[in-house]
Amino acid sequence: MDAERPAETFGAIRGLFLGELDDATFYPYPEQNPDEKEGCDLAVEAFRDWAKDNLDPVQIDRDQEIPADVRKALGEMGILGMTVPEEFGGSGFGTTSYCRVMEEITRADGSLSVFVGAHLSIGAKPIILFGGPEMQKKYLPPIAAGEKLCAFALTEPGAGSDAGSLRTRAEWDTSQGAFRLNGNKIWITNGGYADVFSVFARAQGGPVPGEGGITALLVERGMPGFTNGASEHKMGIRGSSTTELAFQDVVVGADRIIGTPGNGFAMATRSLETGRLSLGAGSAGASKELIRLAARHAREREQFRRAIIDFGMIREKLGRMAAATYGAESMVYLTAGLVDRGGLDMSIEAGYCKVFGSETLWQVVNDAVQIAGGIGYMTEYPYERHLRDSRINMIFEGTNEILRLAGTLEGLKEPGRRATEALRAAKAGAGAALAEYALGASVAGSAKVPRWVPEPLAAQGENFAATLALFGAKVTEVMKRHRRAILGQEYVLRRLADAAMRVYATAAALARASSRIEKVGAEAARRDVLLASRFVDEACKTARRELEDIETVRDELDDAIAEDLREQGRYAAAWF
Ligand SMILES: Cc1cc2nc3c(=O)[nH]c(=O)nc-3n(C[C@H](O)[C@H](O)[C@H](O)COP(=O)(O)OP(=O)(O)OC[C@H]3O[C@@H](n4cnc5c(N)ncnc54)[C@H](O)[C@@H]3O)c2cc1C
Repeated sequence: MDAERPAETFGAIRGLFLGELDDATFYPYPEQNPDEKEGCDLAVEAFRDWAKDNLDPVQIDRDQEIPADVRKALGEMGILGMTVPEEFGGSGFGTTSYCRVMEEITRADGSLSVFVGAHLSIGAKPIILFGGPEMQKKYLPPIAAGEKLCAFALTEPGAGSDAGSLRTRAEWDTSQGAFRLNGNKIWITNGGYADVFSVFARAQGGPVPGEGGITALLVERGMPGFTNGASEHKMGIRGSSTTELAFQDVVVGADRIIGTPGNGFAMATRSLETGRLSLGAGSAGASKELIRLAARHAREREQFRRAIIDFGMIREKLGRMAAATYGAESMVYLTAGLVDRGGLDMSIEAGYCKVFGSETLWQVVNDAVQIAGGIGYMTEYPYERHLRDSRINMIFEGTNEILRLAGTLEGLKEPGRRATEALRAAKAGAGAALAEYALGASVAGSAKVPRWVPEPLAAQGENFAATLALFGAKVTEVMKRHRRAILGQEYVLRRLADAAMRVYATAAALARASSRIEKVGAEAARRDVLLASRFVDEACKTARRELEDIETVRDELDDAIAEDLREQGRYAAAWF
C-alpha cells in the first residue's frame, strides 16, 4: 500500500471479513455524480451511434488489427481522454462514468476495449496518478486527444504473476545523469503503435544517492535502443496489438521518472486497480450483449413446435445469465461509486469485481453458445468470437488466482490482528472466555438482516445475513487454526475468496434493488426484485457450500494427485 492512499476504514469488504456490514457504505446504493452523468450519457450515446456505422468487429477479428481510422475516431470522440483531468484537455471522468463507457465499448468489441483499457486504464494511469507537474503538462494533453497512445509494460518472460521478480535493469549513469535501460517485456498491449510506455524496471542507483528498487520510467517510441516485436497471433481479442518490447542501453533521463523512485511496484498495483474494475464493467457489458443475442434466439427458434424459450433447461440458463449479470453489475457500480466517493481503499473489491465479472461472462458466453446450438459454433455468427474474446479476462491484469489470493489475504489482515490480540489477552490472564468473546464478538452480532432491506426482499435479506454470519465465523475459525500459516493455505484461501466475493456481490445486489424500491416503489422495481432474488439465492448457496466444505478430504487427494502427475508427467491410470 502506498503513502498516497487516504486513511482506510473497514467500510466495505474489509468489514464483511469481520462479519459486519456497515450500512452507510452499502446504502443507499451509489448514484452517478449528476455533474458527470449528462456528459457520460452523451459519450455512451455518441460511441453507440458511431459504432453502429463505423465499427466492424468481424473485420477487426479477421484482419487482426484495429484500423488506424478507428483509433483516430476514438481520439476525436474524446474517448481516449475520458479520465484525463480537464485541465489537460480530458473529460475528467470519475470511475463510474469510465466504467459505463467501457461497458459499452466491450459490448461492441473486445479488441477495442482492450486497446482503450491499455491506453487509459493502465498505460496513462501512472502519469495521471503519479507524474510530476512538468511531465503531466507535456504528455497528458496529447494523450487525452489520442495523438499519443499509451502502453503499460510490466510483464517479462520470467516475471508474470510474480511481477516483482522483474529483471529489466535501469542503471544510473552518473556521467550522463540518466538511466541506462536494458531488458525485455512481453505481451504488451498496444506495443505495436503506442508512443508512450510506462515501463517498470529494477533501478540501481538514481539521481539521489542510495535510491533503487522497482521504478516506473516513461519511455517514448523513437528513443535509440528501443524496439518492439511483431504482433502475436492470439485466440481472441485478435485485433488488439500484443508485442514484445526490447530495451538496449536506452538512455532515460531523470525527468522521465514517474512518481517516487523505488515505489514502482505499489504504483503498478495502484494503476491496475482501475483496469480491474473497468474489466469487471466491460465483462458486464459483454454479458448483456450475449443475453440480448440468446434471448432473441430463444424466442425465435422453434423445435418440437415450440419456441425453445418455453423449455425449462433454456429458461434456467437465461435466468442464471441475467441474474449473475445483475450481481456482477451491482458489485462493479457499488465499487465504482465508493471509489468516486473517496476515503476507502477499494483495491480488494476492484480485484474481486474483475474475477467475478470475468467468470460470470465466461458462464454467460457458454450458456449463450449452448442456447444458440449449432449456429453458436459457426464463425458466421458472433457467439464464438465473444467466447474467444472473453477468455483473456481471466488471465491478464492479474490472473484470477492471484487476485483471489491477494484480495483474500488483505481482507484477512484485520481478523488476523484480532486473533493475535485475543491470544495475547488469553495469555495475559484475561480468561479464555473473554478472549474468545473478543475474537468472535463481531460475528455473533452480525446475523441481522440489514435494516434497509424492504419487504419484497426480506427472505433474501435473511439468506444474506445467515451467509454473512457463517462467513465471519469461518474467517475467525480459519484464522484461529492457521494464524500466519494461512499464507500457504491456498485451498482454504480459494474457498474463502469465492465466498467473500459472493457475500460482497449479494450485499451490492440487495442494496441496489432496495434503493430502487425506495426510489420508484416495489411495483416499478419488480425487475430488480426478481433479478436480485434469483442472484442472492444462488450466490448465497454457493458461498455456503464453499464455507461448509472449507477444509475437505479432497485437499489431501488433490495434493497426492498433483504429486503423482509431477512424477509421471501424464495421466497414468491403467485401463486394463
Ligand atoms: C493478450 C495479453 C495481453 C497482455 N497485456 C499486457 C500488458 O499490456 N502489460 C503487461 O505488463 N502485461 C500484459 N500481459 C501479461 C499478463 O498480465 C500475464 O500473462 C499475467 O499476469 C500472467 O502471467 P503469466 O502469463 O506469466 O502466467 P504465470 O504467472 O506463469 O501463471 C500460470 C498459471 O499459474 C497460476 N499461478 C501463478 N502463481 C500462482 C500462485 N501463487 N497460486 C496459484 N496459482 C498461481 C496463474 O494464475 C496461472 O493460472 C498480457 C497478456 C496477454 C495474454
